[in-house]
Amino acid sequence: MIRVRVHIQGIVQGVGFRPFVYRQAAAHSLTGWVMNTPAGVVLEAQGETPEVESFVVGLRDQAPPLAVIQALRTEGIPPAEDIGFAIRPSGGTGETVVIAPDGDVCVDCLAELFDPADRRYRYPFINCTNCGPRYSIIQGVPYDRTLTTMARFAMCPACLAEYEDPAHRRFHAQPNACPDCGPQLRLLDRRGEEVPGDPLAAAIELLQAGRILAVKGVGGYHLAVDAAHENAVAELRRRKQRDEKPFALMAPDLAALAGYAVCDAVAAKQLQGPERPIVLLPKGRPNRIASLVAPGNGYFGVMLPGTPLHHLLLRDRFGALVMTSGNLSNEPICYKDTETLSRLADIADFFLTHDREIHIRNDDSVIRVFRGQPVFLRRSRGYAPRPVTLPAAQPQVLAVGAELKGTVCLTRGDKAFVSQHLGDLKNIATLDSMEETIRHLESILKIRPQVVAHDLHPDLLSTAYAENRAGLPSMEVQHHHAHLASCMAENSLEGEAIGVIFDGTGYGPDGTVWGGEFLVGGYQRFERWGHLLPMPLPGGDAAVREPWRMALAWLHRLYGEKLVDLSLACPAEVASSDRRLILQMLEKRINTPLTSSCGRLFDAVASLLGLRQKVSYEGQAAIELEALAETSQDVEVCPFDLSEVDGRTVLDFGDMLRIMAEEVGKNLPKAPLARRFHNTLAAAATAVCEKIRAARGLDRVVLSGGVFQNRLLSEELCARLEKKGFQVFTQRLVPPNDGGLALGQAIIAGRSELCV
Ligand code: ZN
Ligand code: ZN
Ligand code: FE
Repeated sequence: MIRVRVHIQGIVQGVGFRPFVYRQAAAHSLTGWVMNTPAGVVLEAQGETPEVESFVVGLRDQAPPLAVIQALRTEGIPPAEDIGFAIRPSGGTGETVVIAPDGDVCVDCLAELFDPADRRYRYPFINCTNCGPRYSIIQGVPYDRTLTTMARFAMCPACLAEYEDPAHRRFHAQPNACPDCGPQLRLLDRRGEEVPGDPLAAAIELLQAGRILAVKGVGGYHLAVDAAHENAVAELRRRKQRDEKPFALMAPDLAALAGYAVCDAVAAKQLQGPERPIVLLPKGRPNRIASLVAPGNGYFGVMLPGTPLHHLLLRDRFGALVMTSGNLSNEPICYKDTETLSRLADIADFFLTHDREIHIRNDDSVIRVFRGQPVFLRRSRGYAPRPVTLPAAQPQVLAVGAELKGTVCLTRGDKAFVSQHLGDLKNIATLDSMEETIRHLESILKIRPQVVAHDLHPDLLSTAYAENRAGLPSMEVQHHHAHLASCMAENSLEGEAIGVIFDGTGYGPDGTVWGGEFLVGGYQRFERWGHLLPMPLPGGDAAVREPWRMALAWLHRLYGEKLVDLSLACPAEVASSDRRLILQMLEKRINTPLTSSCGRLFDAVASLLGLRQKVSYEGQAAIELEALAETSQDVEVCPFDLSEVDGRTVLDFGDMLRIMAEEVGKNLPKAPLARRFHNTLAAAATAVCEKIRAARGLDRVVLSGGVFQNRLLSEELCARLEKKGFQVFTQRLVPPNDGGLALGQAIIAGRSELCV
């Protein structure tokens, strides 16, 4: 007979952990108790030695699906007297409670959902302690029904009995409900009038008939149409004014998905996790998905049903539904019922909605798989607000990111809580969403920041927020330094590392636009060791929307006035008056700010290859260039030039662009050139890292910035660096794009003098 005390930290509260412990203890005939404390779950268990030992192993191995165990410590203590195994009331206040993200319906609830004998048969709000909404319905802490949007639903006797039974899967399941006592589904037309009859059956019929429905999900509304219905998809595109940006798909299950996308075991695991992200999967050919779902793109973004309602909508009815965020372009996803009706009335024909309110909006997460691990393109529903563990505890800070792909980050001890995706902070609606999210996270996590960190760019809405936040000092952080720190932090690195930071746009302290940077540094300082050759950006931001302008800037540099003689897609496809105007700008250096951006280098090459002269969404040219390169096995590397300017290494790809221009002029296949561009960029970056290692003795390289959403470049660069003996670190917990910036800002602020 032995007795142990076990301390467990992580996401172990509000996820059915105590009932799980109770059932495990019963299965091993143990006595003792379990309770929630501010420091996590504490339990004592007593019984036969082998039973106690296998009980402890099971705590980790068989933990409930939504639990994340970060630390489990066991100590032997003297046996004591117990009456059975008890779940004790919580001790202390919830200062260190970690709120669980929203999760999909679990296998047990799913079985009940489709069991005609079950009292929750086809009930869209079925859940238990292992599944269901969390973050999106929580209004305050402690996590208790009265502080969720379920407070207005009084449990019926049957639900209450489950809720109070420690042996039941619904013990203290705060959103517990049934058709008799819980939320109800409704179908509304666009005037807000209720459509009579069974809302679910009617919604399915409408979708089959090609109508556009707004469907209320976990963190907001989706716009749904049948993905096989060409006209419906075209109409949705027209009404949403979204020219080419891909629409996400929802598949009923993996079998249906195999009919149109290529899904390996790693991707399948990600798709099936409780987080239910959108996963980018190569398109399968041929397939029945409407061509306008993801035009000009080699991938479909696919997710599996994320709520019981989605299962009910899709099962046996559709091969896939388009499920795109319910918003107007550039605005955050709609989540409030009344506001949604008015804002989406010109897009949706009908609204499939219900009366369980969403307290905080939370858009879908998007990932792709790289080396068997997810890479976040957007980290949101299912992951937020799960914390990233920092290498060390630090004072509490708030970081507000930059502009694109906004997220905020709050720290407490060694935990950094990165918010859900907020969208591009370019309008008041998105700024409001950011302020709301900051208030919400500060309240439920009980964090009072000492400092607000923000981007160095003076004109951003996030910068204005930080500088105007009453009573708190603000701290500016250079954009690419934040990228470097973000990648170091999630990999628990201390000291200094080499940062290869490739992205689109970031404000440089010298007044130019940075974005192809080789940094050396850590959390407290950094230096710009090298960068891509600064090139004129004709027309500033307009060049971001029109890649041909960057191509022209390169051709102008390489050929001067002779460039008009070249037979290239880039000058040819563009009106000659536009071309002349840009050439004049380049000649006279008017409105041509300099940029070392790597994203703009992708643009120039995509334009030169005749791939794309204008883009309708950020990163489009680079995405299409990567897709083309993936079809080639070319291993050649073009020459590149490294020179010293003002004590910094400048990387010049002029020779490569000249070769590209000449090859394209000969009308040779373009895929090998696209591939060669990736090879050359990787080889050149490796060469710069070797120079830095020779000078500084550093052999750890971190890769960050939006360009590393590119799988092919990441793979090429990692492989080349590793071959040269570097240790390479990439972002796996937060996005490499600006969605991960706030994490870097937060640790830089936390380690700064402002916080000492
Ligand atoms: Zn469940
Ligand atoms: Zn009930
Ligand atoms: Fe960036």
